Amino acid sequence: MISKTGVVGAGLMGRDIAGLLANAGYAVTLVDVDDDALDAARHYHERKLPDELQASGYTVSDRPADRITYATEYEGLADAEFVVEAVPERLDLKRDVMASLEAVLDSDVVVGTNTSSLTPGDIAAEMNHRDRVVLFHFANPAIHRDLVEIAGDDATDRALERATEIAEAIDREPIRLRREYRANGLSRLSASIKCAATWELLDADPAAIDVAATRIGFDRGPLELIDLIGLDVHLATIDNLAVTYGDRYEPPAEIREQMDAMVSDGRLGQKSGEGFFEWDGDECLIPEPEDPHDIQPILAALVNEAHRLVTDGIADPETVDEILQRGGDSEIGPFDVEEMFGAEPLREVLERRHDETGAAIYEPVF
Ligand code: NAD
Repeated sequence: MISKTGVVGAGLMGRDIAGLLANAGYAVTLVDVDDDALDAARHYHERKLPDELQASGYTVSDRPADRITYATEYEGLADAEFVVEAVPERLDLKRDVMASLEAVLDSDVVVGTNTSSLTPGDIAAEMNHRDRVVLFHFANPAIHRDLVEIAGDDATDRALERATEIAEAIDREPIRLRREYRANGLSRLSASIKCAATWELLDADPAAIDVAATRIGFDRGPLELIDLIGLDVHLATIDNLAVTYGDRYEPPAEIREQMDAMVSDGRLGQKSGEGFFEWDGDECLIPEPEDPHDIQPILAALVNEAHRLVTDGIADPETVDEILQRGGDSEIGPFDVEEMFGAEPLREVLERRHDETGAAIYEPVF
């Protein structure tokens, strides 16, 4: 049993991961290089964490915020027995963080990475003890989405077991991926939907796409999702994924140009108040479209990607369904979608859209 944990990065994900660990009874040292980020996290833990936990069905333990210590120096992690990193998605930065961690941690301490588009192997490549790094990937919002994906091709069994034990201690049933791959399971499913939506933008406006998506049961439309994570973050993720997947998740050239221009103009999505849609705080203001778009190509791209996950040996179909259900808060998974619409009609949609656009996302694999 361990009692002391650490989290590096006090942003959107790190503050929730720290909150989950503290609520499970662990002492947590939360490290960030930015004092303001630590102050904001402390404020969030003191004022909002109990309500967020309760809203997600957690029993709130006695004042979880009291178990969190805030630090700007990595020395604060010296006695940690398990650490999660949640710093921005840049390989050079994550490797620097691993070097800083190795300088202070005992050699057998396991480090989880919350990366969405890199691999534990890449991130650990320059470490002395690279087999201590495992994927420990949450969905956003981490408190509310019941997902932790665990993987690590080079990780020791002990490291994978330690990560599993911690995930279970915070009341998650972790999903163990059979192989590590850029973007894991959930982020690849999500990337396929978002990418297909950008191809559909050639024929429809954002509201027509997103309203159609929510009408068939998506929690949020794919373009609202891009707004939510930020156009800058989304495009950086696509560029990271291109190293492994080529242009599979790339928008069409003219839409990419528009999205790059939106980023340059500061139209980043929710965080700047405007992206594909206008935002009022947390609320995405989607106008009523004249005609909702036919989004079967987006569903077909999702099912296609689910088949790729199975073929790549990441998970079996039941697990892929579970990943989307739990991580995307969806009632159904991609293979349920296939059953609803039929494999043959979905494959025909992919073939038609692939002929029309040449987009890799529509190239059928089933
Ligand atoms: P964020 O930008 O909200 O927070 C990152 C924090 O890391 C910032 O507070 C920053 O000051 C801090 N930081 C930067 N350099 C640091 C360093 N050297 N040492 C310590 N702290 C440092 O980012 P986020 O959205 O929380 O994402 C963090 C990670 O989680 C990324 O790998 C991302 O891919 C992954 N992730 C994000 C989401 C999402 O939807 N936001 C979902 C799943 C996974």
